[in-house]
Amino acid sequence: MKKLQGLGMTSLRTRQRLVERLTEQGIKDVRILEVMRDTPRHIFLDEALASRAYDDMALPIGHQQTISQPFIVARMTELLIEDDKFNEKPLKRSLEIGTGCGYQTAILANFSERVVSIERIKPLHERAKSILSDLKIKNLRLLHDDGNILNNMEGNFDAILSAAAPLNVPNYLLKKLTIGGKLIIPIGDDSSQHLTLIRRVKKEQFEEKTLDKVLFVPLLKGLVN
Ligand code: SAH
Repeated sequence: MKKLQGLGMTSLRTRQRLVERLTEQGIKDVRILEVMRDTPRHIFLDEALASRAYDDMALPIGHQQTISQPFIVARMTELLIEDDKFNEKPLKRSLEIGTGCGYQTAILANFSERVVSIERIKPLHERAKSILSDLKIKNLRLLHDDGNILNNMEGNFDAILSAAAPLNVPNYLLKKLTIGGKLIIPIGDDSSQHLTLIRRVKKEQFEEKTLDKVLFVPLLKGLVN
């Protein structure tokens, strides 16, 4: 709880600047701009980095992982919710692979009835759990698990977001989409990687779009305790 007292630490102006930069980069959805303005990104970072929390850049969160750049978080979320401008919760059930520090999870939770988020590194999972609980975000389930194996996961999702990059589109994720559901995922290695948006049009029919060049950490196998 101590960290939450830092909420006033970053002025509205600093956050407003982040929103301006996101707008300049092409983020149009006002719902996302508002949520990004109101979500305290500095709470997700170590104190030493908190002063850079509203710069539009990826930052280290330990264990060789990074908190995603705000623009990428905004862009991925926008692609998932752009078809539904009316419902307060455009997404019913969302799945995130790679909780990391939990920042993207918090943003996604604003637009989803329920979020399931998976992280393979236990200390990151535990830390995200504590921060998201401090922020009183309740419509989520955080799992310490390998996002490569979803065998035990029941039901399908209308949105899946991966914050880690496999080399190819994983079939097991496609199978977890509802009809009409969307998967947003970086695909490729660290020399060439692109955000890829896939929609399940019919049971066996998928539409794929290759979008922005990006650089995410790789999707790895196995658990770290
Ligand atoms: N959105 C997060 C991004 C964290 S980086 C944030 O803003 O903090 C991506 C995360 O994916 C890392 O924490 C990494 O440990 C995790 N990851 C990589 N492979 C995974 C897998 N197979 N299952 C679950 N998480 C995985």
